[in-house]
Amino acid sequence: MQDILAMTFPELQEAVKQINEPGYRAKQIYKWLHVRKVREFSQMTNLPAVLRTKLESDFLIPKFTIARKLSSRLDETVKYLYQLPDGQHIETVLMKYQHGWRLCISTQVGCKMGCQFCASTIAGYVRNLTASEMLLQIDETEKDAGVSVSGIVLMGIGEPLDNFDNVMKFLGLLSDPGGRQMSLRHVTISTCGIVPRIRELADLRTGLTLAVSLHQATDIRRSRIMPVNRRYPLQELMDACQYYFRKTGRRITYEYAVMEQENNTLADAKALAELLQHQQAHVNLIPVNSVQERNYHATRQSAQRFMEYLENLGIHATIRRTLGSDIQAACGQLRHESEKMKKF
Ligand code: SAH
Repeated sequence: MQDILAMTFPELQEAVKQINEPGYRAKQIYKWLHVRKVREFSQMTNLPAVLRTKLESDFLIPKFTIARKLSSRLDETVKYLYQLPDGQHIETVLMKYQHGWRLCISTQVGCKMGCQFCASTIAGYVRNLTASEMLLQIDETEKDAGVSVSGIVLMGIGEPLDNFDNVMKFLGLLSDPGGRQMSLRHVTISTCGIVPRIRELADLRTGLTLAVSLHQATDIRRSRIMPVNRRYPLQELMDACQYYFRKTGRRITYEYAVMEQENNTLADAKALAELLQHQQAHVNLIPVNSVQERNYHATRQSAQRFMEYLENLGIHATIRRTLGSDIQAACGQLRHESEKMKKF
């Protein structure tokens, strides 16, 4: 059965034609799915009953269940562990910011990238998420929390640019003027640095913000903690980033998780400043979230010190607020915990 929620409007028009229904039905169904956000064909009350039955037998609307939900006692962060139709689990994190609610969504079940400090990668990669599974993270969270999300970050489990086609389809559905109408200016994609895809994204001129996870500023050291660097070394990555900026006019954010005894000395700051010297770069620092199996740790003070080093070298940097630190809100932590529990 075809997943109707993942269909673009032209795809839906085609599907409606295939079952010999008039064209305007596609518009009605699309509105129910993406504007009214109903999840049962039986609720599409302006469709004739026979058509609803027909849709039920030919198409499916995927459903999520909330496997776990953790609400922070420190701030208003809520973390959801969703169970997908095939029993897999992913995480979605809802965060309160000054200007509204922001949602951090996953793009894959697990991850292939192998970054040493990241929990998402420990249990390996299972599969890509579909466009509808990305949309449902928004819809289900908005419904459960009773909020309207104004910003989306693709920073949950997975590497968005390793699931390029589904992510692009999701962005198309999200921003469709005839449907959900979210401006892609409110969307950030975070990548570990898949160079050809960064260039492709630049050519599409979507208006979204690109965040690049850097964490080290020399090839030898970055390759040690981020295997992707062996495939796409720093110079190629920087060239792609500059290309992105030239094509889109959008400044890139560089993510840098500060890790004690790994990347937080003055020499590290100098290497980073040198790497970024020809760009109007913005560096987002975050004290690394400790993952049980990994030996990385940092304090807020060491992130603060590193920020001062950078500022003195003329690089604009901020420290990201750590939200939901009491509820394992870092990338992949909750899914990983639940996978471990299954083993007992
Ligand atoms: N694969 C994408 C997006 C998911 S990870 C990427 O690599 O950018 C989102 C961000 O969280 C990345 O910057 C990633 O490097 C960072 N991250 C992963 N594990 C972390 C940890 N334990 N502490 C702090 N940041 C972490």
